[in-house]
Amino acid sequence: MGKPTGFLERQRLSEAYEPAPARVKHYREFVATLNDEQTRIQGSRCMDCGIPFCNNACPVNNIIPDWNDLVYRGQWEQALKVLHSTNNFPDITGRICPAICEEACSLNINDESVGIKSIEHAIVDKGWQMGWIVPQPASVKTGKKVAIIGSGPAGLAAAQQLARVGHEVTVFEKNRRPGGLPGYGIPDFKLDKSLIERRVRQMEAEGVVFRTRVIVGSKDVPAGVANDASEHIPAEKILQEFDAVVLAAGSETPRDLSIPGRELKGVYAALEFLIPQNRQISDKKANPINARGKHVVVIGGGDTGSDCVGTSYRHRAASVTQLELLPQPPEQENKATTWPYWPLKLRTSSSHLEGDTQRLFSIATKEFIGEQGILKAIKTVDLEWKDGKMSEIAGSERTYPADLVFLALGFLSPVSSLLESFGVDKDARGNAQAVTDGPGCYATNTAKVFAAGDVRRGQSLVVWAIREGRQCARAVDEFLMGSSSLPR
Ligand SMILES: Cc1cc2nc3c(=O)[nH]c(=O)nc-3n(C[C@H](O)[C@H](O)[C@H](O)COP(=O)(O)OP(=O)(O)OC[C@H]3O[C@@H](n4cnc5c(N)ncnc54)[C@H](O)[C@@H]3O)c2cc1C
Ligand code: SF4
Repeated sequence: MGKPTGFLERQRLSEAYEPAPARVKHYREFVATLNDEQTRIQGSRCMDCGIPFCNNACPVNNIIPDWNDLVYRGQWEQALKVLHSTNNFPDITGRICPAICEEACSLNINDESVGIKSIEHAIVDKGWQMGWIVPQPASVKTGKKVAIIGSGPAGLAAAQQLARVGHEVTVFEKNRRPGGLPGYGIPDFKLDKSLIERRVRQMEAEGVVFRTRVIVGSKDVPAGVANDASEHIPAEKILQEFDAVVLAAGSETPRDLSIPGRELKGVYAALEFLIPQNRQISDKKANPINARGKHVVVIGGGDTGSDCVGTSYRHRAASVTQLELLPQPPEQENKATTWPYWPLKLRTSSSHLEGDTQRLFSIATKEFIGEQGILKAIKTVDLEWKDGKMSEIAGSERTYPADLVFLALGFLSPVSSLLESFGVDKDARGNAQAVTDGPGCYATNTAKVFAAGDVRRGQSLVVWAIREGRQCARAVDEFLMGSSSLPR
């Protein structure tokens, strides 16, 4: 513990945002990393608790008190080493993780938590600036070949771990660029895509081969799933050519809203708006959906909904309304709710504050109303929630003008035809069936086929995908070599 009295003397300092009127004029990141001195001071607020709940709450178990202390003492390179010992991509989590750790921080009980995520962000950015982050190729090769299907955070983390212990790793990705949802779904203003490209280059130098625009397993994907593939490789061929296979294909089947008017022009799944927006920036190809001057309604809260809100403001939408089935949570969390319970509170994202977002809770959409096939309005009804069950309030029907509706209702499951092509059993929710602990963890019922990330756990978070990718890599290494030096 760098400074025993730090938390008594110093307040939390959050990262500064570029003001909303300026940032909605572009798609670049707008969060200013803390400078060295600010980070040092924030690190000094850590109490180095006997039981660091933050470390337990973080899905990759980042060793937070240690890097807080190292940063306070000015030992940045060592702090970076500790950070990388548990997390392959802190440059991604330091930007877009919901910081579960901060909810668990002991200071959060009666004060503001340590700004853990901002310290993580500062350490890794400094690491890149100083040239401390370099490829770590294996000194000894095993001659074993591993195929990774999918290049999201789970696939990338698994690939990096496996390449570093000497396996010959090939990552297959059906889309144009590696990165998964952080690469093509999450807006550039939250995560600059050059950060992913830089990691891909690091991994290539470590021996990982990326094969993009290649779809593995079944060629068929459901409507609304991004697919740029120009080549198809059947599952049998992959199984013949590789010693182990990791399915890290995400959970891509979007949840739809089958109500009258769903077919109208103007009603889209969220990713039909967000992916072309990212491509507009990377490939200079105009987004076919333009929200300029339109009344936008986003159905569904969560990160995806919030990303539609921020992107709509950047398009200069006339208004943005967000609907949520669940009741409005309290503005302030109940401080008595401590980790592992997730405190319920109204979470307002930076996107919500970029305009006059109307956020409506306990509300269901009954119908999309159109004229000549084009969306004009939505019809809603208010809901009453009792004992966890909802019922419609009679007579509460209303209509709202709507030119564009984005369905941000989450994702149902992985694309089932991929799992079927490998003969992989599914759980009750349609995810790849595999346990995460004990002998045979991450292994599916099909010999030498493993599964990690959203494909196994259902739609989740980047930090969970990294955890699963790392743990799965160890399981694959043990399977191939009989034992493993990789961390779990
Ligand atoms: C709009 C949006 C915003 C989000 N924001 C956040 C956020 O702010 N913070 C956060 O922590 N999480 C966020 N998430 C969730 C997060 O992105 C995912 O949980 C995470 O990316 C899952 O990682 P993954 O590697 O398991 O799968 P994915 O990232 O989905 O990657 C899977 C990859 O596999 C490829 N693939 C699939 N099938 C095949 C095939 N047959 N052949 C070849 N390739 C294939 C896909 O094209 C994809 O690139 C967001 C999700 C969305 C949709
Ligand atoms: S990865 Fe997320 S939960 Fe873990 S320390 Fe970083 S911000 Fe916190």
